[in-house]
Amino acid sequence: MVKDIVENFNKVKKEIKSNLKKSNRGNDKIDLVAVGKNHPPKKIIKILKNGHKLFGENKVQELLDKHELFYDQDVSWHFIGHLQKNKVKYLLKIDQLEMIESVDSIEIAKIINKEAQSNNRVIQILLQVNIADDSDKYGFKRSKIEAVLKKLIKLKNIEIRGLMTITPYYNEPEKARDDYNQMKKLFDEMNNKGYKLSELSMGMSNDYQIAIQEGATIIRVGTAIFGKRNYY
Ligand SMILES: *Cc1c(COP(=O)(O)O)cnc(C)c1O
Repeated sequence: MVKDIVENFNKVKKEIKSNLKKSNRGNDKIDLVAVGKNHPPKKIIKILKNGHKLFGENKVQELLDKHELFYDQDVSWHFIGHLQKNKVKYLLKIDQLEMIESVDSIEIAKIINKEAQSNNRVIQILLQVNIADDSDKYGFKRSKIEAVLKKLIKLKNIEIRGLMTITPYYNEPEKARDDYNQMKKLFDEMNNKGYKLSELSMGMSNDYQIAIQEGATIIRVGTAIFGKRNYY
């Protein structure tokens, strides 16, 4: 099973390429975040050895545990889960933490800024948008994004790189297309207003092809690479 991981990974890379081409984005680049949550480190090592560097986790403790195993490797981490205030300080101590994709309140952004400052660093963040107004999902309402940007842009130790979304669960991937299209519109709208956003993180195993067609620059893929999650 573990042997298949590199094969799965290569298949996803191929799909990325063909979907970029298909949507006339042949020169664009997609960052593939390999989401290893609930998968043991031995699975992560498979693609790490194959030259992949970018990984995502949604729990602080799990990220800390995996960081401890891989601190001497050439890896970068994206944090992609809902972040609790009291955990921010542990996260910001990880040098290889490249981005927090899941900033979902002004309060947490301010805490991240403060911890980044104490660690003498600037951390990249994305604002999580609850694009479908799903009551089960974290994230800012679309109508709040401009005001949030205006406020957070003043903070010196966070760098707002763009927007991220997690769509509701749809039984058919195609149903996420409208949400992704709305995200791209919001992203373009903010750029037209002068906010310099370059990253749009959207799309998971089920629907990353559609997200790419709609303008994603970062996709977060777990199951399609590592298989079903074992809660170990
Ligand atoms: C788990 C997770 C993913 C990956 O989901 P898959 O369906 O396994 O690809 C992507 N983004 C977030 C925020 C996640 O929590």
